[in-house]
Amino acid sequence: MAEETIFSKIIRQEIATPLLYQDELVSAFRDIYPKAPCHILIVPNKLIPTINDVKEEDELTLGRMITVAKKLAAAEGIAEDGYRLIFNCNNDGGQEVYHIHMHLVGGHALGPMLSK
Ligand code: AMP
Repeated sequence: MAEETIFSKIIRQEIATPLLYQDELVSAFRDIYPKAPCHILIVPNKLIPTINDVKEEDELTLGRMITVAKKLAAAEGIAEDGYRLIFNCNNDGGQEVYHIHMHLVGGHALGPMLSK
């Protein structure tokens, strides 16, 4: 059994992080340490620790994460200028929270995709 992270508590609203969006599959809330003017995390309600653990049965949830990202980008007013969607996986990918999440970042030009 994978161990729950703080994201499960946010999804269940056991801690008072405001939700920007929630439905039966996914939830979204602002990143606590934003790396850009807009930095939102879109997460499956179900605990999936890493992208390596994704199963075919999760495809609907993963697709929903993208349509929710699109809607939130529009709501944040950054859709036309553009934004970036990021998944980090495991140590080399820089993953810190082991409950998969898509970062929606934008609000200014983000520069090169990778830097060390
Ligand atoms: P990652 O490195 O892809 O695992 O990203 C984890 C992200 O979760 C980081 O950007 C953190 O700032 C963010 N984060 C960690 N704890 C919280 C929290 N309680 N509420 C919102 N964002 C969080």
